[in-house]
Amino acid sequence: MKITRFLVLALMTPLFLASCGQKEAEKPLAETPAAKAEPVMAPIINTPDDALAELKNGNQRFLNAALINTEYKTQIENTKLDQKPHTLILSCLDSRVPPEIIFDQGIGNLFVARVAGNIEDQNILGSMEFATKVKGTKLIVVMGHNKCGAVKGALDNAELGNLTQLVNQIKPAITGDKNNPDAMLDETAKNNVKMTIADILKDSPAITELVNENKVKIVGAYYELTTGQVTFLD
Ligand SMILES: [Zn+2]
Repeated sequence: MKITRFLVLALMTPLFLASCGQKEAEKPLAETPAAKAEPVMAPIINTPDDALAELKNGNQRFLNAALINTEYKTQIENTKLDQKPHTLILSCLDSRVPPEIIFDQGIGNLFVARVAGNIEDQNILGSMEFATKVKGTKLIVVMGHNKCGAVKGALDNAELGNLTQLVNQIKPAITGDKNNPDAMLDETAKNNVKMTIADILKDSPAITELVNENKVKIVGAYYELTTGQVTFLD
């Protein structure tokens, strides 16, 4: 009888009632075992500089043919409930510049936005604001590359349907010596990266605020098609 009374009292305590109220399905995602699982050999990335260092290391692994992020089935398992990519890459459409491969980042580590000539628009900015404000992405990389067809289209005044307005957006970046077209192409591509970064900061107060608070860093990069090497631009 006493034991029964004790159980009734115990069952009515606020602590017990509170714990009953927190059903398994309502627990925060971070408390579930699957969400705690880290990608295989994933580095600890807490800051924009951590993310930048990981990209530099990842490109070096790619160059050394020493990839570590290729356990795709494990990565799918580790990311099936949520994603927390450390970096967003805005890259060119070019099929020879695949960010996940050249930075050895596998599944779940990068947001990737790709458009010919790696330019920004409202859709790209909306994607960047989702990544940084909602998912906590620390780093934005705008990456151009040498021998870019979109940049060449801007230099050549290419006209083709909707491509015309796309290359027109690159034209303000045109720079260099017209007597040296190869150098001009590369100089314009690098300048286009810098101008895209300036446009992102001009057009997105949300990202500019995060950058000013040192919560997010935005950097330029340049990929060399003939070597696979990424150089980060000042
Ligand atoms: Zn390109």
